[in-house]
Amino acid sequence: MNKLTIKACPVCGGTHLERTLTCVDHYASGEVFHLCRCRDCGFIFTQDFPVEAEIGRYYETPDYISHSDTKKGAVNSVYHWVRSYMLKRKARLVAYEAHRKTGRLLDIGTGTGYFADTMKRCGWQVDAVEKNAGARAFAAAHFGLEVKADTALKDFAPGSFDVITLWHVMEHLEALNETWEILNSLLTEKGVLIVAVPNCSSYDARKYGAYWAAYDVPRHLWHFTPGTIQRLGARHGFILAERHPMPFDAFYVSMLTEKNMRRSCPFVRGMITGTWAWLHALVSKERSSSMIYVFRKKKSDKTVE
Ligand SMILES: [Zn+2]
Repeated sequence: MNKLTIKACPVCGGTHLERTLTCVDHYASGEVFHLCRCRDCGFIFTQDFPVEAEIGRYYETPDYISHSDTKKGAVNSVYHWVRSYMLKRKARLVAYEAHRKTGRLLDIGTGTGYFADTMKRCGWQVDAVEKNAGARAFAAAHFGLEVKADTALKDFAPGSFDVITLWHVMEHLEALNETWEILNSLLTEKGVLIVAVPNCSSYDARKYGAYWAAYDVPRHLWHFTPGTIQRLGARHGFILAERHPMPFDAFYVSMLTEKNMRRSCPFVRGMITGTWAWLHALVSKERSSSMIYVFRKKKSDKTVE
């Protein structure tokens, strides 16, 4: 297998890298991967991960059911309720942060298209890109969405979008710095970038250590904290304007972690840890399991006429 070895920190360029945790891929392969930490800025990333061309098989697993549309059973009912609640919350957050009710929006890594469809129904002009052909076909069949392949990203004209969203996508992208450059170019001067990622300085991440399910090696390459993502954004001309906690993620992540640890009653244990994590996030939002970050472009020095 061809693996990518990171020799310089993608956030600060530092070369003082140290191993910090050893994680197992519980989802697909059972293989072991090491996490590294940059001693200069504290950024944590998966080291020696499979290259883009070969990582596809790590996304395949026999019990992959997350796109299931069946509404039978209590777990599925909860799943559908949470999804519907989150879609409405995301739509409200986009309008609030963008200071507008409609506009041009690009959703990167749109998956099966639920969010893109929601925004379209709210009156937004939506473009969406997605790497997975199966997910693109689903979005076309269920929502009539014309989702482009991720290679289309470079075909959009500069300044095309008022809002760009990446919901739990940034941590998967091999070309991290190149992507941030493209995001800056595609946004209008007053554009808003909204990025949701897991938070490896959260209550649940600290409790579970290497077992924390949101390390999700080798699919998650980059493990952000509020501090490291702010620094990465600044490197590409962005100011971190706002942070919103996503404390519900702690319940799912904790249950999955307990299951991976093969402990008894993972559902109950996960609910208890999720509740604690939720309470911690109420007091200090930086400790939320996942975070939504809102970035705006730094004002350019050009005089506005
Ligand atoms: Zn660094």
